[in-house]
Amino acid sequence: MTDTTSAQRGMDLITLGVAAGPAIRGPEHGIASAVVVDDAFYLVDFGIGCTRAANEAGLRGHRFRAGFITHLHSDHVIELPGFLLWNWGRPVHGFSTPVHIVGPGPDPEDGTRHLAGTDRLVASALDAFSYDIAIRVGDEDRPPLADLVRASEVAAPARGSAAAGEPFEVYADERITVTAVLVDHPPVHPALAYRIDSAYGSITFSGDTAESANLARLAEGTDVLVHEAVNLDFYRSRGFSPAFLAHQENSHTPPAGAGRVAKAAGARRLVLSHFAGPADAEYWRTEAASTYDGPIDVATSGARFSVATGPVVRAGS
Ligand SMILES: [Zn+2]
Repeated sequence: MTDTTSAQRGMDLITLGVAAGPAIRGPEHGIASAVVVDDAFYLVDFGIGCTRAANEAGLRGHRFRAGFITHLHSDHVIELPGFLLWNWGRPVHGFSTPVHIVGPGPDPEDGTRHLAGTDRLVASALDAFSYDIAIRVGDEDRPPLADLVRASEVAAPARGSAAAGEPFEVYADERITVTAVLVDHPPVHPALAYRIDSAYGSITFSGDTAESANLARLAEGTDVLVHEAVNLDFYRSRGFSPAFLAHQENSHTPPAGAGRVAKAAGARRLVLSHFAGPADAEYWRTEAASTYDGPIDVATSGARFSVATGPVVRAGS
């Protein structure tokens, strides 16, 4: 028999927020994307505005399974505490079973500074709000939050090692498998791209990176490549300092570069996001189309893209 009991089967991408930061240069939410697989959803990055954007997209916490952090720049993680605190427990239709937060550890070559990786970021956030959390556990019959949030740090290959260019698995459950690869976002290390595969297809996220051969390898044959884009002309023409301009040039990708990566990967669709430097949609699309022949979307906050839709035929069900 065919299982048609659920109306929502398939794999969708929702670009919850598409702006780089930490600066507000327009109306779009900060960088965050949702991947919806059947009745569950996953997030890639937690930029400013993602909590409201997820809610407006109809995503409630009880359907949240895992979040993946590309790197620890604040514009990618600033709203992780807010998202967890706003989506926890039955009073808000939140999660009441464990969820996973996967992200980079601290830079192993960072010496004696003892900077925080994903584990400490999550633990510190829960500690910072421990008063609120304890009050609500007792007062609102919510489960202890710390028991439900499982942080884990990606075991990234060492810089310059033979494995540094190879994709590696970081997460799997009954719906998805997630692989990662190191990308080039100096001086940030580790900086990761993620690929999420399901029975329906795949979506690959560049994270923040200069034009990356590793990313093209990770994204080989992917259904959708979500790639960052920078408008260098904006920064060159506005009197930013040489150091700031050098960061934009060495650590991010102009849209024509995103198109080259999509072409090298054989990606079926290119979705541009994480826009740094304002420009109109036509600028982003035209530049990317100069190097990539496939369909190109200039993402906006809340836009939805279907990778595949059901219903799924389940043998024996
Ligand atoms: Zn970054």
